[in-house]
Amino acid sequence: MIVQKYGGSSVSTAEKIRTIAGKIRSRVNEGEKLVVVVSAMGKTTNQLIELASRVSTAPLEREMDMLLATGEQVSAALLAMALNDLGVPAISYNSFQLEMVTTRTHNNARIRDIKLIKLQKELEKHEVVVVTGFQGITDEGHITTLGRGGSDTSAVAIAAKSGSRCEIYSDVAGVYTCDPRIQPRARKIEYITYDEMLELASSGARVLHARALEIAKKYGVDLYCASTFSDERGTYVVHDLPEWLEQPVVTGITSDPNQTKVTICNLPNDTKVLSRIFVNLAQENVNIDMISTVNDNGHSHLTFTFISGNFEVVRKTLDNTLKDLEGWKFSTDDKVIKLSVIGVGMQSTTGVAGRFFSALSNSGIKLLGTTTSEIKISALVHIAEAERATEALAKEFDLLREE
Ligand code: ASP
Ligand code: MG
Repeated sequence: MIVQKYGGSSVSTAEKIRTIAGKIRSRVNEGEKLVVVVSAMGKTTNQLIELASRVSTAPLEREMDMLLATGEQVSAALLAMALNDLGVPAISYNSFQLEMVTTRTHNNARIRDIKLIKLQKELEKHEVVVVTGFQGITDEGHITTLGRGGSDTSAVAIAAKSGSRCEIYSDVAGVYTCDPRIQPRARKIEYITYDEMLELASSGARVLHARALEIAKKYGVDLYCASTFSDERGTYVVHDLPEWLEQPVVTGITSDPNQTKVTICNLPNDTKVLSRIFVNLAQENVNIDMISTVNDNGHSHLTFTFISGNFEVVRKTLDNTLKDLEGWKFSTDDKVIKLSVIGVGMQSTTGVAGRFFSALSNSGIKLLGTTTSEIKISALVHIAEAERATEALAKEFDLLREE
């Protein structure tokens, strides 16, 4: 058995659903049994959210899940019809009919268990079982959804529980060394590790739902990401690269524009002040990313970025936290972008940071902040310099296609 997942853009029209049914039929003819997880058609989920906002200013979370779960039910039923029309025995199921049990957190539930018995019984009678992605049911019988983009997680969870491979089809042909929209010479990556994919996902690349990756990593699910409508080879996401493949130092570059930089000048040189700032921001649910401090003449200047949370909340929290201090100045900049190079190969190679910073400085890029992890180096730069900086790093680490 194989688990396949088709994203919203792959099932956005009746024609596309019929095309996918044809593709699934070829796999069935090769002797494969399939569980096919689908997202809602095209922009359905967005439209349903918009619809809710027109009847209520604060829609109840439980009712939102009742509403949003309908989107996936539509595409699942249509795909099952199209398959039967082509002579492929198929049946569709809701996640709650299959008892995909989740936590009770409406709109952002986590899968706790999947009972496979029904799925397996149906696969004895049918070649394909089509399952709604993105949703589940609580132990009390309430419908839940898994958070935006959650169908990936449904598919990988079914694959994990049943010990199957998982193929994720969407409108992108795989994972690239850099964003092909910014850098047209980005190369497709053939093999990438879970850890690198997790870093890519958390650094702004829109590749796969991060929770899907966490499950894949934990249970060693082999993932394959490819384009729905082309036969171009996609990307394998694996635990370790195949032995014959030489590990590159850097596998990919990603950019995250969703950052706001905050600088506070002339703070007292006192760790207690810093701790108060970050504790209070955390209490307001402000998600801090990069942090750096500079000391000069007994003063300290603090720079940090936040990635979610509202600017007004940050300003008010700082005003409150620092109200007894004098002389400090506060400025913000949201025209910044975080560029990260990622690669498990960094762990066993020296000089990567040197190459990273030289590549940027040789291209005259101004660094506004940096952070590192074991397999990642990030730089904050001005948005106007993002393209040039990406190009410099891509060249340095050999990530571009030959012209
Ligand atoms: N339909 C849901 C969404 O748009 C789930 C998904 O597509 O994965 O977020
Ligand atoms: Mg999606």
